[in-house]
Amino acid sequence: MLFKKRVELVRLKMEERGLPALLVSHLPNIFYLTGFTGSSAWLLLTGKHSVLFTDFRYFAQAEEQAPFCEIARLELSPAPALFHQIKNILKDKGLSSLAVEETYLTLQEFNKLKEHGETTLTLIPCSGVVEDIRVKKDKEEIECIATAARLADAALKETLPLLKPGVSEREIAAELEYRLRRAGAAGIAFSTIVASGPRSALPHGLADTRKISEQELIMIDFGAVWEGYCSDMTRTFVLGEPTPQQEKIHRVVCQAREIALQAIKPGEQVKAVDAAVRRYFAEEGFGHAFGHGLGHGVGIEVHERPTLSPKGTELLAEGMVFTVEPGLYLAGQGGVRIEDLVVLQSQGPRLLTSSSRELLI
Ligand code: ZN
Ligand code: ZN
Repeated sequence: MLFKKRVELVRLKMEERGLPALLVSHLPNIFYLTGFTGSSAWLLLTGKHSVLFTDFRYFAQAEEQAPFCEIARLELSPAPALFHQIKNILKDKGLSSLAVEETYLTLQEFNKLKEHGETTLTLIPCSGVVEDIRVKKDKEEIECIATAARLADAALKETLPLLKPGVSEREIAAELEYRLRRAGAAGIAFSTIVASGPRSALPHGLADTRKISEQELIMIDFGAVWEGYCSDMTRTFVLGEPTPQQEKIHRVVCQAREIALQAIKPGEQVKAVDAAVRRYFAEEGFGHAFGHGLGHGVGIEVHERPTLSPKGTELLAEGMVFTVEPGLYLAGQGGVRIEDLVVLQSQGPRLLTSSSRELLI
């Protein structure tokens, strides 16, 4: 029912945009619309039909996961079978134009689709048809993301006592990921970031062989996957007594987080929320030290819409799930980022991550 409803919403979007048929090639969009979790598939949507193309490896799985779709089997040869089959289906239905996902379809696929066989298809590059719907999460999705966030909270709590001088960043990442898996997570949402000492000034410093020591910043950014949905959270710690400078940037980042949470409400511009934080950092003399956006949507993908940044054009809306992740990065010294995951409700943001934001462990 859930998937049928989502497909119906996409059909309404297609109608609005005057698209008679849409070929969905981005796997997260296919998962969203059908529940199919395999690694190879295409979904053809027309006003009435939903045809899921997949190969021998996934045929039985597709029938089980997406019973309301017509499942079309892709043959191994000849190679352009997919394009041939798609054209035949469209021809049968009297359709001569097909919308494709311009962000995800490769140029090679585009050309094959256009050129194969005698019939000529008019291809319409488009974007956002499925993402416009995905940006607001339904109840089931919010529950999955909240569960992923809870697993991450629990894994971090179990891992923190293992942080001792001499332990490497990679060992910390391994302990964290092991605990996520043991708690039932399907996997990690992205490569775990553990960046210590001067490396914590690298916003995306993947765990390295560096060993942690006292009085240095340790930034940990990681996420879990639960039922196809991701979580994302960052905490920053210091072993032993933090220096006054470390305490200061931590305090400023925490205050920036408060400012962001206060500014977040349905109808607000994403760039206004980002600007509120940027303004505060500048007032504190750290205008140069926050080089990334304030947050991003999280769902089936760990980075999706909305994008909270100076370039963002969207308005926040109820049901959106996104991160709030102010950070300050001082080259050669270190950085602090605090990242929480929130779901936007009518009265404001509700936190999905609950790990302590204290600097000291
Ligand atoms: Zn993160
Ligand atoms: Zn993030």
